[in-house]
Amino acid sequence: MVKKNNPTELKSKSVMLPKNEEQETPNKKANEFLETTCIVCPIGCNLKIEKLNNDIKVTGNLCPRGEAYGKTEITNPSRVITCSVPCKEKIYFVKTSLPVPKKLMFNVIEEIKKIPPKNFNEGEVILKNILNTGSDIIVTGSHSPQQDI
Ligand code: SF4
Repeated sequence: MVKKNNPTELKSKSVMLPKNEEQETPNKKANEFLETTCIVCPIGCNLKIEKLNNDIKVTGNLCPRGEAYGKTEITNPSRVITCSVPCKEKIYFVKTSLPVPKKLMFNVIEEIKKIPPKNFNEGEVILKNILNTGSDIIVTGSHSPQQDI
């Protein structure tokens, strides 16, 4: 039975299923199998990703970007991280310039927390090559809590 794309299911979690005897995967020989939602565009295709040794097969994608996303997701899942840096008068919003490995997400946030408070400009790089990921921390905007009063 073909499962149709349902927008209400887009928030479902990705589940990494280790290969074992009882597990049902489209290819019984797959070393790893992952079913997830492509987050590259709002369509949110349901991807099935199978890894057999060095061969990765992605199905369910409507375009090549989904295939690339699926391959990264099963080998080295990465995300752009957004965070905030509170200073005296403003809160600065920051993000990584490139996706960083998910396994380093909390380490990246810890590094961002160490940034000394001062005034920044929008677009300013405030930390270069964070944790040797090749990604910089960039200021994307700010908010003055006093404006709310
Ligand atoms: S596979 Fe292509 S069309 Fe489908 S969600 Fe990903 S980017 Fe969008």
